[in-house]
This record gives sequence, C-alpha cells and structure tokens, in this order.
Amino acid sequence: MTVADGAEPPIDKTCGEGMMPETLASLHSLGIHLEREEGFRFDGICFVNEGMRAFAKFPGGQGLGLARPVLHGKLIARATECGVQLLWKTPVTEIDRDGVLARGSKIRARWIVGADGLASRVRRWGGLEPANSSTLRFANRRHYRLAPWSSFM
Ligand SMILES: Cc1cc2nc3c(=O)[nH]c(=O)nc-3n(C[C@H](O)[C@H](O)[C@H](O)COP(=O)(O)OP(=O)(O)OC[C@H]3O[C@@H](n4cnc5c(N)ncnc54)[C@H](O)[C@@H]3O)c2cc1C
Repeated sequence: MTVADGAEPPIDKTCGEGMMPETLASLHSLGIHLEREEGFRFDGICFVNEGMRAFAKFPGGQGLGLARPVLHGKLIARATECGVQLLWKTPVTEIDRDGVLARGSKIRARWIVGADGLASRVRRWGGLEPANSSTLRFANRRHYRLAPWSSFM
C-alpha cells in the first residue's frame, strides 16, 4: 500500500479536533491506542447559538479532543509499522484505470482511495462531484491553553 501526499508532516488544518467514541474504537482496531492523558475526553456534543443550547451525551463511551498533528503522527507511526510506503511532497496529478500519476511517475494501483480533502480532485476526476455545489462557508480555529469549562464538545 502507498500513500502519496502533496504536503509533508506535520500536516495541520482547520478542524474541531474532536473524535467520536466510534472513531476511537476504529483507531483501536487499527492498532492505534490513545492514552487517557493524551487529549481531552468529552461526554457528548453541545451546539451553542446566541441564547440557545442543544446538547446530547454519547449513549456509550467518551470522545477525545486531540491536536490533529498529534493524531497524524500516530497514524504515520502505525502505517510505517504496517509496511505502508509513505510519499510526502508527492502531489497526485492524474488518475486512470491502472493507477495514479505522482511527481511524473506512474504508481500502479488496483484501488485508489481519494482522501484528498474537501475540494477532492480524485472525486472530480472520478466524475463523483455532487449535482448541487454547496454554498461557501468559512471556519477559523485557534488553540487556547485553559482549563475546560464543560465536558461537552
Ligand atoms: C472546520 C472543520 C472542522 C472539522 N472538525 C472535525 C472534528 O471535530 N472531528 C472530525 O472527525 N472531523 C472534523 N472535520 C472533518 C474532517 O476534517 C474531514 O472529514 C477529514 O479531514 C477528511 O479527511 P481527508 O483525509 O479526506 O482530507 P484531509 O484531512 O483534508 O487531508 C487531505 C490530504 O490530501 C492531500 N492532498 C490534497 N490534494 C492532493 C493531491 N492532488 N495529491 C496528493 N495529496 C493531496 C493534502 O495535502 C492533505 O494532506 C472538520 C472539518 C472542517 C472543515
């Protein structure tokens, strides 16, 4: 298995950085074990909008808030352990029936997983663009070092 990414670690992006209990179970089954003290555990989700709040506890288990580059580092370590070939600074520029073109070289592949983000080119090349394009949205993220005031994300 080969992973080709146009960027190089540590790869970060704007994100809420909250993992649901099911995500943690999936990571566990992949051999990625996150210690309790590695992030911040939370019990559910709370949406806040002006004077309104809507919240719900997870029916089972807890979620985990963890900085994206930390999670990425763990994924890289486990993938390396499993023998995955990791190619950084290697943008994919084309796909066809036999594989992908990356940095001018053909990588032969039976299956191509296009985990290339919101504006996925693999999705476009595969003719899988949605019929209705969604409206443009903006997000900002900033980290603050302070004690949590809620057990909800
Ligand atoms: C504001 C915001 C908040 C979010 N908060 C959460 C959250 O709290 N919890 C949660 O679980 N999810 C959250 N998400 C969703 C989550 O970020 C995405 O579902 C997830 O990152 C998608 O994974 P991905 O690997 O497909 O894309 P990404 O994580 O975006 O990674 C795409 C990768 O593909 C590479 N790439 C792109 N094009 C190419 C190319 N042509 N060739 C080679 N490499 C390429 C990029 O360098 C990048 O490393 C949030 C999303 C947003 C926008």
